[in-house]
Amino acid sequence: MKVIINSKEYQGLPGETLMELAKRNNVDIPNLCHKDGIEGQGRCRLCMVEVREGKKTKIVSSCVYPIRDGLEVVTNSEKIIAIRKNIILLLLLKTPNNDYIKSLAEEYGVKAPDRYVDYKVKENCILCGLCVKACEKMGTSAISLINRGTTKKVSTPYDDPSKDCIGCGACAEVCPTNAITMTDKNRIRTIWNKEFKLVKCSVCGKTFTTDEALQFIESKLGKKEERICDSCRKKIISEKFKESFKYF
Ligand code: SF4
Repeated sequence: MKVIINSKEYQGLPGETLMELAKRNNVDIPNLCHKDGIEGQGRCRLCMVEVREGKKTKIVSSCVYPIRDGLEVVTNSEKIIAIRKNIILLLLLKTPNNDYIKSLAEEYGVKAPDRYVDYKVKENCILCGLCVKACEKMGTSAISLINRGTTKKVSTPYDDPSKDCIGCGACAEVCPTNAITMTDKNRIRTIWNKEFKLVKCSVCGKTFTTDEALQFIESKLGKKEERICDSCRKKIISEKFKESFKYF
């Protein structure tokens, strides 16, 4: 499948979205709510691009737009840059003290008029919903987007410590603006108003996950998991790999 992005030709794969094709070919399309492994949601709208089909042009969210043979795409036209700047301005007004949004605004030369900005606002969440998706992917669905309009937010049911949360931290990990507070202190992880006991890696001794997360994985796999962190696990695998190849 042939797709032209900014006058250059790329080969698309069946089922790919524009964002996936662009990422695979290192074409930069700014976005806040797209992560590999999580399907696009078209929420932040920062990934808008211009699509040309024959004589028609339309603006689409690249993270949810499926590619087609012969599609022509422009990611940085004047119109697109203007839309992006407006979105960034709105995000800046919502989260005026967030470092990531501030750096994005600086990159695009966006300044919010002082009279519209409430610098006392501590909000960091841009309601992209990526954390909700990540939790859903984990199979836990402990958080969701609740309320409407200006009171819309991500939370656990009734803002209470959720019985479904396993403290895995996937939500905090994917959040583009660091809006989710997760602290690991004295072998206790605190997230979403709930405390979890952290588990130590049996190789390096560092804490790496929670008891609840391990039990959850074990219940899914139907077998006991070794208490080994990701980086030690990788080291062990690569050593085993080297060992098995030394006789060749
Ligand atoms: S820490 Fe809790 S809310 Fe966050 S992804 Fe894991 S289970 Fe979901």
